[in-house]
Amino acid sequence: MNHIKDNLAQVELQINQACEQAGREQTTVQLLAVSKTKPAEQVEQAYHAGQRAFGENYLQEAVEKIQQLTHLDDLIWHFIGPIQSNKTRQIAQHFDWVQSVDRAKIITRLNEQRAEHNNPLNICLQVNISGEESKSGIQVNELAQLAQLVHESPHLTLRGLMAIPEKGNAEQSFSQMQQLFEQLQAQYSSVDTLSMGMSDDLAQAINNGSTMVRIGTAIFGARQ
Ligand SMILES: *Cc1c(COP(=O)(O)O)cnc(C)c1O
Repeated sequence: MNHIKDNLAQVELQINQACEQAGREQTTVQLLAVSKTKPAEQVEQAYHAGQRAFGENYLQEAVEKIQQLTHLDDLIWHFIGPIQSNKTRQIAQHFDWVQSVDRAKIITRLNEQRAEHNNPLNICLQVNISGEESKSGIQVNELAQLAQLVHESPHLTLRGLMAIPEKGNAEQSFSQMQQLFEQLQAQYSSVDTLSMGMSDDLAQAINNGSTMVRIGTAIFGARQ
């Protein structure tokens, strides 16, 4: 079980090597540890190895873990799964970031439901960059309008974009995402996050400007 510490070190090494190859500073890429389906104890092991940011896809499971880990008060939780509109209140209550925002209704609800006493909720818009029917995410032509809506929401902060490119044509999708990200950054000073790259394609994502890779399997092992 103490493989988690070794795995994290291995992933950090991969990130550093990819940064070196891309001519980037390693501090420009953050690691999000995706802990979905894995128990709170494994999150805690990763925490003790220095990891602070964790990604979860399933709300019920995530809330249980978050409540089990309140003694670790500097954990940063990112919601990265599909969002049902009746779940936004709990997401706004328990998470620091939401990366899978994909429609106006969700933006409006998260803004209304984020408590006044909390910091603004950090938002990434998920782009369905490969145009896959089965994947969630906005179309590119919706981006300008939804980004503006997040920007105008007082309890939200627009941080950037997230994507899960299709396996086959990932290179093209990654480079399109980089262009969209740079355009958005030129428009909004709060934008600093391009979340793309998973266990299998992190080097390629970093080579195309990713600032946050989301890694599950390579840290916690295969999921059921
Ligand atoms: C599960 C998941 C990941 C992690 O995938 P791995 O292949 O296990 O690294 C990253 N991003 C999202 C949105 C996920 O759902």
